[in-house]
Amino acid sequence: MDKQLNIHYQEFADENALPLQDRELLRQAETMASKAYAPYSRFKVGAAVRLANGVVVCGSNQENAAYPSGLCAERVAVFSAAANYPDQAIEALAITTQAEKASGDPVAPCGACRQSILEYEHKFQQPIRVILRGKNGTILVLDSVRSLLPFQFSAEDMGL
Ligand SMILES: [Zn+2]
Repeated sequence: MDKQLNIHYQEFADENALPLQDRELLRQAETMASKAYAPYSRFKVGAAVRLANGVVVCGSNQENAAYPSGLCAERVAVFSAAANYPDQAIEALAITTQAEKASGDPVAPCGACRQSILEYEHKFQQPIRVILRGKNGTILVLDSVRSLLPFQFSAEDMGL
């Protein structure tokens, strides 16, 4: 039996089409990207998380000479938010890049980040809005991390 998945997302050429709080979150992610520690890849990423209480927690990628020891901007932000505000659901996550050589299109989180972010959708039973902006200004908006990871691994798979 053939089956098909459809993923819904929105694309904007201009941030003015977005709600003010999304634009603000993108601005904070942009600032964070400029502070990324990416001496090896020079692929700078910034992330900003908006919590249910309105607090914004930010992160940037942190690389390491021993490559796997570094961490993506998304997980720096999300883990920091979860550690400092464990009772606050994550409402939205903005991700921007300042890649020197890349196409300039929005860059989606890596697989490990998708799984990590999804954990907090499960925890709070609330979708996380994901806002991606590339260097060329194109913006993609997804209503849930599930759209980025349709076949997800969850605690239910372990019978938990
Ligand atoms: Zn990642």
